[in-house]
Amino acid sequence: MGPIGHTVVSTVIGASIWGVTGSPAAGGVALGVGVLVDIDHSVDYYQEWVKRRPHLVLKLFHAWEYSIIGLLVLGFIYYHPILLAATVAHLGHVALDHYHHRPNPLTYFISRRTWLRFDARKIEPGKRIRQSYEDFPNKLPLGRLWEPWYRRKIEPWFAARLTIAPEDRVDESDR
Ligand SMILES: [Zn+2]
Repeated sequence: MGPIGHTVVSTVIGASIWGVTGSPAAGGVALGVGVLVDIDHSVDYYQEWVKRRPHLVLKLFHAWEYSIIGLLVLGFIYYHPILLAATVAHLGHVALDHYHHRPNPLTYFISRRTWLRFDARKIEPGKRIRQSYEDFPNKLPLGRLWEPWYRRKIEPWFAARLTIAPEDRVDESDR
């Protein structure tokens, strides 16, 4: 799910939280958290394309565990509207990504990703690493306008940095 979808859904969640708790700050936090969970992709892109570790998948903020911990704290230890907002917005973001991308059901558990040493080949076998940059124009705003420029100028840079491992060649022949 791209930033536009997350902004729309997080706005709805934020307005609902504001309505339920009466706290506009909680509504704002819900909107912020719902959208900003995706800043963790910047770390992944840096590792993949600058450090040339294309099989690394960290997605440090994308984890069901954080939502579960938030719900447990809210239910049993301490309630605060801001914590409620952050927890619901985070849960909404991960759920939306999960149903949009339909990965292995366990992909968004960071404990499992840690166990598999953040190796995309074990976390989501068969996933094509090229997808992460090929999809940019579909994920970001006004993609149609700048897609031709992107395909011409930027995509070749990513493609050139990709050292194709033997196991990826199978993928490539599927295209
Ligand atoms: Zn996301």
